[in-house]
Amino acid sequence: MDVIFLGPPGAGKGTQAQILEKAYGLHQLSTGDMLRKNRIEGTELGKLAQSYMDRGDLVPDDIIIAVVEKELERLPGALFDGFPRTVPQAEALENLLRRKSRPYTVILFDVSEGMIRERLIGRWVNPKTGRVFHERFSPPPDGKIDADGTPLIQREDDKPEAVRHRLEVYHKQTEPLIAYYGDPRRGRLVKVDATESVENVSKVIAHALGFQDVAASP
Ligand code: ADP
Ligand code: AMP
Repeated sequence: MDVIFLGPPGAGKGTQAQILEKAYGLHQLSTGDMLRKNRIEGTELGKLAQSYMDRGDLVPDDIIIAVVEKELERLPGALFDGFPRTVPQAEALENLLRRKSRPYTVILFDVSEGMIRERLIGRWVNPKTGRVFHERFSPPPDGKIDADGTPLIQREDDKPEAVRHRLEVYHKQTEPLIAYYGDPRRGRLVKVDATESVENVSKVIAHALGFQDVAASP
């Protein structure tokens, strides 16, 4: 099964991807997590992506498309989290999935801008696993050390200035994908109210994908 999570930064895509991965064995393919891992490991890709990411700009399409193409070769199905983010990326993915006769569903996360800021500014992450917490809504462990012993961090690009720029980038470059996937020739598009609690959003997505019930959050 292939699923695309579409929505602004901070909408809850990573949170839901981790829940669905655990509950149903879908494979989360987060381009943001992949890039951050490459940065930690100091690879060429990581070095290349660094300045774009810190500014809150998108990494160039050809680089991201090549990374996803390689990943897809070994995955029978994926839950795309943070990809595609531009029309050329969506077109590339469309060709890849069509070549393999793989139908897909797009879940559109609908959430207000005020809520996005609140969610991003309170976000804490495990830089090793990508696991996500929120100061108020999904409180991290005491001392901000995850169960695997990794200290949690706040992302550079979650600072207010970078968040402002990322939202502009979203409106300009990613929002056109709503119309792209609204075209009946593409996969099924399902809009989800992402302002609800984590549990309620999980239930709605699980239902939209034809799963019976969702297991408790990780
Ligand atoms: P995205 O992957 O879309 O950028 P995340 O999944 O990282 O977003 O979520 C952003 C922040 O909001 C995190 O701190 C997360 O814990 C929190 N969050 C996610 N979903 C919800 C929700 N439904 N209600 C409240 N907080 C949420
Ligand atoms: P995310 O973790 O999805 O919020 O992504 C963090 C950053 O990684 C983005 O602001 C971009 O700089 C980069 N990035 C992640 N996914 C993509 C993508 N599909 N296309 C271009 N840049 C990306």
